[in-house]
Amino acid sequence: MAVTGLRIGVVGGSVAGCAMAIAGARAGADVTVHERSDGELQDRGFGIVIPPDLHRELVAGGYLGADMPTTPVATRVWLARAPGQRSARELARWTSPVTPCNWGLLWRALRANIGKSVYHRGLPVGSVGRTSAGRALIRTADGEREYDIVVGADGHRSVTRELVAPEVRPAPAGYLVWRGTIALTALRDHPKPMELLETAWITLGFPHGHGVFYLIPGAAPGSRLLAYAIYGFPPAATDGRAPGSPSDVRSIAEEHFPAEWADIVARGEHAAQALHPVADFVVPRAARAPFLLAGDAASVTRPHTASGAVKALQDARCLERALRDSSSAAEALRRYADERTPEGMRLVELGRRLGRELVEHTPDWAAMGPADVDAWSRAVLNGASSYLYGSVQQR
Ligand SMILES: Cc1cc2nc3c(=O)[nH]c(=O)nc-3n(C[C@H](O)[C@H](O)[C@H](O)COP(=O)(O)OP(=O)(O)OC[C@H]3O[C@@H](n4cnc5c(N)ncnc54)[C@H](O)[C@@H]3O)c2cc1C
Repeated sequence: MAVTGLRIGVVGGSVAGCAMAIAGARAGADVTVHERSDGELQDRGFGIVIPPDLHRELVAGGYLGADMPTTPVATRVWLARAPGQRSARELARWTSPVTPCNWGLLWRALRANIGKSVYHRGLPVGSVGRTSAGRALIRTADGEREYDIVVGADGHRSVTRELVAPEVRPAPAGYLVWRGTIALTALRDHPKPMELLETAWITLGFPHGHGVFYLIPGAAPGSRLLAYAIYGFPPAATDGRAPGSPSDVRSIAEEHFPAEWADIVARGEHAAQALHPVADFVVPRAARAPFLLAGDAASVTRPHTASGAVKALQDARCLERALRDSSSAAEALRRYADERTPEGMRLVELGRRLGRELVEHTPDWAAMGPADVDAWSRAVLNGASSYLYGSVQQR
């Protein structure tokens, strides 16, 4: 029997916060979202990929409109620089369907579907607490509000996590990821990469790092951008500045990429650029009544899994089911934690495994062929599943 009449407060109104608001509203709860930022989060215009079946489920479930632009592709191509040359060599080609999205458009689509939920923006939550009667409290500059459940969807520096798992701290991986988007004009003089990107997403291996490239929808209707995430160690600075800046992508590309990919990265107009240290953590339990953690507040996996937003969206689907199938808030939170805690742990472990082999101890990419890439992938996964590696697991 579904628990009814609940008041849910959500801290954070990004991907996880909006998805949790939809989940709560769909299960009949009265939801209020408190978002610190007073800008439009859609400006965070990076690329992310999600599995096509999750995209279908979210559209069917009323989380995303069918009109949210995506750029689905069904193939994964592995590339490296040919030994002793500047040309690209294709190492392997797999069936590997993914649904690339523009992060900002995904957020906007979720935000549009929060229904009757109230969304306060520009309202940071100072702290989260508990009343003497065991209800949850959210404190903002406007005062205190009481809720039956508080969802911490406030990202990797979550204030809500202090109540659920205060001991948890991020573990740095020791390397970085450069992330951004490039205007498609950069591909005008490079028909081969453009032809590949029309049907495939690309993994480009190099010593102690790799790059991932795919097309995503742009903010203007019908437009597209090239999204990239490049993992590695910072190159030594040559111009007196400290190593580790978003523009390092250009020198990494120059040093390691096949010529045409280096040219795309070096000369392209970068519409968005960021540099993140790679780190991970996971809480030992994703909910302790009356508090629940979702998205990056609960766990951050190294981004090689392409699963942070995926997990946040699955967290929301799980909360909706748990609220519908439980007779109390406490039971719903127990069900949620039982299902989502192991998934957070699994993804963190998978991210570490992938990071070790894709950055810390890379194989000799240029010497590999299709059978080597298959065997290497199976050994890296060691039985773990990932939608990015689906076809090799089925072989
Ligand atoms: C390089 C890279 C590539 C990635 N690629 C993928 C991918 O392909 N697929 C995928 O699924 N995931 C990917 N991810 C992960 C994904 O981007 C994140 O997991 C996801 O965006 C996290 O969403 P969130 O809502 O949990 O956290 P956030 O987006 O960090 O949102 C937290 C929100 O809480 C608000 N907030 C914080 N504190 C407070 C407070 N005190 N009061 C009120 N509000 C507060 C913040 O303003 C923010 O809006 C990638 C990540 C990186 C770094």
